[in-house]
Amino acid sequence: MTSLPPVAPLPLWDLLIHLSGGRCQCIGRCGNKHAAGQGRCEHENGGYISKRAAPIRLLVAPKDPFELILPAHQQARLSACDLAAWCPPCHDKARTRAMREHRAALAELHTDDALF
Ligand SMILES: [Zn+2]
Ligand SMILES: [Zn+2]
Repeated sequence: MTSLPPVAPLPLWDLLIHLSGGRCQCIGRCGNKHAAGQGRCEHENGGYISKRAAPIRLLVAPKDPFELILPAHQQARLSACDLAAWCPPCHDKARTRAMREHRAALAELHTDDALF
């Protein structure tokens, strides 16, 4: 990347959206297998989920759904390689799933404790 002028790095959002090709990078973590997009969500920035809804604005959020449940200030410390572009529906569903699994794992931990 020697051709790039030594300017301030692009804002993270622009960078991530560029790297993702402007398309949601969810590969099924939201629970949808995205069969229509060969395993990857087909939602694109500026595209439409339905005719009546506003255009999609992709979100930049942690790639790992378990990091989606981190507090905002911890997410802010992640670097570009730990982030991905998400469409809002995938982001919300992946986050909800991660929270549920996290709670289930905690519950399991406590039942283990009870056994010993
Ligand atoms: Zn998506
Ligand atoms: Zn998805």
